[in-house]
Amino acid sequence: MAGKDKTICKMSEVLASQVAAGEVVERPASVVKELVENSIDAKAKLIRVEIRRGGVSMIKVADNGVGMSREDAVLCLERHATSKLLSFEDLFEIRQLGFRGEALPSIASVSELGIKTRRAQDVEGVQVVCSGGKTSPLENSGCAPGTEITVSNLFFNTPVRRKFLKSGETEAGHIEHQLKLHALAFPDIRFIFVRDGQVVFDVPATSDLRQRIAAFTGREVAGQLLRLRPQSGPGLRVSGFVMPLSAARRNRRMQFVFLNGRPIEDKIVLRAVRDGFGGFPTGLHPSMFLYLEVEPGLVDVNVHPAKREVRFRRPSDVTIAIIESVSETLAAYARGEGEIAPAEGQASGAPSNASADASSGEGSGGAVAGGGAPFGLKPILEPQQRELQLSPRRPFVSATAPSKGATPCGKPESKQPAAKLEQSVAPDMAPPPAAPAATAVAAVPAPPAVSAEPPCAEPAQLGFRPLGSLAAGQYLLFENKDGLVMLSPRAARERIVFERLLEANKRPIPSQRLLQPVLIELDAREAGAAREALAKLEQAGFLLSPFGQRTLRVEAVPAILSLPKVEEFMLDLIRSFSSGETRMKRPRTPFEPYAIQIARSYVAREDMRPWMQAPMALLKELLRCEIPYCTPAGRPTMVPVTLNEVKRKFQAQ
Ligand code: ADP
Ligand code: MG
Repeated sequence: MAGKDKTICKMSEVLASQVAAGEVVERPASVVKELVENSIDAKAKLIRVEIRRGGVSMIKVADNGVGMSREDAVLCLERHATSKLLSFEDLFEIRQLGFRGEALPSIASVSELGIKTRRAQDVEGVQVVCSGGKTSPLENSGCAPGTEITVSNLFFNTPVRRKFLKSGETEAGHIEHQLKLHALAFPDIRFIFVRDGQVVFDVPATSDLRQRIAAFTGREVAGQLLRLRPQSGPGLRVSGFVMPLSAARRNRRMQFVFLNGRPIEDKIVLRAVRDGFGGFPTGLHPSMFLYLEVEPGLVDVNVHPAKREVRFRRPSDVTIAIIESVSETLAAYARGEGEIAPAEGQASGAPSNASADASSGEGSGGAVAGGGAPFGLKPILEPQQRELQLSPRRPFVSATAPSKGATPCGKPESKQPAAKLEQSVAPDMAPPPAAPAATAVAAVPAPPAVSAEPPCAEPAQLGFRPLGSLAAGQYLLFENKDGLVMLSPRAARERIVFERLLEANKRPIPSQRLLQPVLIELDAREAGAAREALAKLEQAGFLLSPFGQRTLRVEAVPAILSLPKVEEFMLDLIRSFSSGETRMKRPRTPFEPYAIQIARSYVAREDMRPWMQAPMALLKELLRCEIPYCTPAGRPTMVPVTLNEVKRKFQAQ
């Protein structure tokens, strides 16, 4: 009997393993994970997993990997026995999935575990059984090269744990999901999954990742995959697929991220993908199959044995590579250069996509808009539709007759009495085509002149018909073949103006010179913010000069903004800068937060009435945008209500 003073005792090996098992072996799916990882580490090309009663009665994982020697077959059941890690330094060079040498002894301590294994070079294999942590003597076995591990009666000696297990159905579901992750991570391995005597799936090895994905999602979904432009950063590579925004979901079930063959859940990665889209509607999640290969020294996977967390040593490298890869892929797709251009049938295939979803068990969390195209739109706009009408050769536009450059956002400038605008400052400039609306003087500015633009598909051709407006003009209503589309003019304008401003990255934004410079008085903080923002504002088409300590002189404003009250607008804008509203976690370019703020401040005070009177013109402008579906901050610009939804509402009892 231990003396009264003795409170610390050494755990038995079995108890220590059971404690460790609590971390490693949470449920049958975690056993499957560990065993399959070992098979992958053993270079197996075929892995067969069989379970009975949700894995509680039996889990058998058989592989055709390298197998184990007689000695190893016994050693592998001892704690911290691993063939994969010998020194602390090795921890930073982990290339295998396992490295702790903990899994097998942990599993063996809470089950009856049998191993049959044989290396290719051995004439005979061996088998050993370990029950509740006690190992039987080794025996010869006439097995095929590879390893077969059978785990029976899981948690038979830890009744509390067993009690916490869910139904066989649920546990089997977890196992299937776990295997699906492995199979997506390693398309070059054939996986067979047998449940209670029935083959659930048998996916052949393939070098084509898309084919592997299709095996699980169905062809319909796989047909929408956009192959990511491979992108490398220091010690890392990004590849895989994303799906266009139209395939976004309300849940994360179509988000798969793998890091060096491990499924991970990582906020940094998901955030970067959203940013790569240039903003993403709140409440929706991009669909993706993202594969990261990172040099082992640059990532810590040793955070938790069972959890999917990782720690990147240089998270910003990861972010940049992902953003670039995703945004370049989407830009190419928008230009119609993507590797896949969904066929017409697919592009408008809302119902078929929805049914594919249902069959893969995604149910209500399915895509928000079906097919390759949201709102029944052809997703790939013609290149000339994308062309913005900002002429690089004519940085300054006429005050009286807006050139094409001014029209996209342009209410005619003649409606802006406060901003005295000079006539064209470019002497060699050919007279721009005068839009008829430009000379009209009315209480409500005339609809924007869009007729002077190059030919491109009209929304009518895209199948839109204006129906009217809602809530005193707060929303515009359209009909297309899929049903109803509601559009928020203000949100749409934010997106349009934002994208126009972003064009500044490619070519100078046309400015319009004020007839008389406007002087703006600022306080010290505002003056500081203005100085800081000067270069960005000039990039956007403002021409500014500090005038004394606290005065800002505005000489020209971007031609795409029609500003009746330059002073008020500038003050608003600079105040938003000084109050830090431009702070953004991870802007794609330093200019982006400024462009967002300029668009927001401008549109907040913009008169929407002309747009309400020209709904098709507004829609057309919006559809010309690279990402028409949301504002730069991620609020939706358009909300579809499908005919099916309408029908369902009427049929509801
Ligand atoms: P770890 O994977 O962390 O090394 P495990 O307890 O999972 O620890 O496995 C211990 C050792 O057993 C492995 O390092 C490997 O040498 C051997 N092993 C386990 N499973 C297999 C298998 N399917 N094929 C070949 N060797 C295996
Ligand atoms: Mg392992």
